[in-house]
Amino acid sequence: MINIILFGPPGSGKGTQAALLVERYGLEHVSTGDLFRREIGNGSFLGKQAQQYISRGELVPDEVTIGMLRQKVEAHPEAEGFIFDGFPRTVAQAEALDRLLDEEGTAVHVLLSLEVDDEEIVKRIKGRAVVSGRPDDADEGVIRHRIAVYKKETAPVFEYYERQGKSHRVNGIGSIEEIFRRLCAVIDHTLPTGSVSP
Ligand code: AMP
Repeated sequence: MINIILFGPPGSGKGTQAALLVERYGLEHVSTGDLFRREIGNGSFLGKQAQQYISRGELVPDEVTIGMLRQKVEAHPEAEGFIFDGFPRTVAQAEALDRLLDEEGTAVHVLLSLEVDDEEIVKRIKGRAVVSGRPDDADEGVIRHRIAVYKKETAPVFEYYERQGKSHRVNGIGSIEEIFRRLCAVIDHTLPTGSVSP
């Protein structure tokens, strides 16, 4: 199994690149943001719990997020691996992910961090709001709060995996194709030959 964490601040292009990587490497895409939005759309209890945090640009509590992630991973025993997009966002989530994958006899292989500066992020997310219809994309105050939460709570996850020798920074500025090529170059150089099926 090959497990990739696609990392980076909100609006750094994780969702766009995850869709391309899934196609190339035949992995299962797990986006906790998408899972929460689906729950909100279904009007479920989990969705109602999550919505209050998401609308303020806060993180959904770890217990809720980790439980949902575990269910998603366990629902795909046939998967050749996963691309985690928007998870883990705290060190506690990273530790829980490591334990979960260890139970499955596997591990995180590589963390790819898309590097994009704050002003570019704000510009991109405001542009995306027009098509995404996401209330958390439409409000500049909420966008800036999400960036602050990323720096405080999520950025330490990079160092957590760096200590395991797994973290890589990738320039997230450029065309979608250029950024995709940069990500593939790191994946292809990092993973053992023959472990992925491009
Ligand atoms: P995203 O689509 O990844 O930008 O996520 C949208 C929102 O969902 C975030 O701003 C958080 O409120 C919530 N969320 C998504 N993933 C997580 C996570 N791993 N931990 C906590 N909250 C999350």
